[in-house]
Amino acid sequence: MDSFCNFVKTFNIFILEDNINKAVELIKNARQITAFTGAGISVESGIPPFRGEAGLWNKYDPMVLDINYFFSNPKESWGIIREIFYDFFGNAEPNKAHFVLAEMEKNNLLESVITQNIDNLHQEAGSKTVHEFHGNSKKLICVDCRTVYKVGEISIKVLPPKCKNCNGLLKPDFIFFGEGIPQNAYIASVDAANKSDLFIVIGTTGEVMPACQIPVMAKQNGAKIIEVNPEFSKFTNSITDVFLQGKATEVMGKLSDALF
Ligand code: NAD
Ligand code: ZN
Repeated sequence: MDSFCNFVKTFNIFILEDNINKAVELIKNARQITAFTGAGISVESGIPPFRGEAGLWNKYDPMVLDINYFFSNPKESWGIIREIFYDFFGNAEPNKAHFVLAEMEKNNLLESVITQNIDNLHQEAGSKTVHEFHGNSKKLICVDCRTVYKVGEISIKVLPPKCKNCNGLLKPDFIFFGEGIPQNAYIASVDAANKSDLFIVIGTTGEVMPACQIPVMAKQNGAKIIEVNPEFSKFTNSITDVFLQGKATEVMGKLSDALF
């Protein structure tokens, strides 16, 4: 059994090396590259995904992120939000995969990152053009006058936090269930899907609508798709051209070694 397991392991490493070479060729020959990231890229920074065994929804009720629930119960909703997004994950730092994407942009190998994440880690790693499909937890927005604050500017010791301008209710500047996608991010993402000839999709199940339509749109417009994920996703057997099976830091580290 042991020797069979070793055989499978060696075989998988061989496939990964071969696919890394294919990915590098695609990257070197591409005209415009976009990265599309999900919760998986931040798992090795200590932020769990929503779904799956270690997912947040096994511990918390997603109701706290429903916009109607938030407006009816801002204090209760904020209590859980503070625990998840500010106490637990507030100090998470970017990992190798975030840094490699920033390095690729600096070297003109990447046009932009479209992220479903709200953790600000792409920007903290140095990425400049980031389209935040679901907003950003490091900012708070007044639901009345729309003033935006950085998290550190406002105390969240007493909940719910209030606007310094108009005393309105402050909400994290990410989208809740029942809210629309920020228009600027949506337009920029569709534009990237229309113009890019290569998408690098990292750490996403491809189950969240309408974000999951963006790589599909790119594929329909002729883009090649490289996917990085330890598990198969909705994309793997449908739109993916080169599947790099593994953790984001490991795979992006290998890509970086081959590129730079
Ligand atoms: P998801 O929770 O549905 O799935 C996570 C994916 O990451 C899975 O496909 C899993 O196989 C993969 N994964 C796990 N570990 C990985 C690793 N080390 N390297 C690479 N991939 C790994 O995530 P989703 O598809 O992004 O959708 C969930 C939604 O939840 C998103 O819209 C996002 O806004 C939000 N979310 C954000 C954060 C964050 O900001 N970091 C965290 C949790 C959820
Ligand atoms: Zn206000």
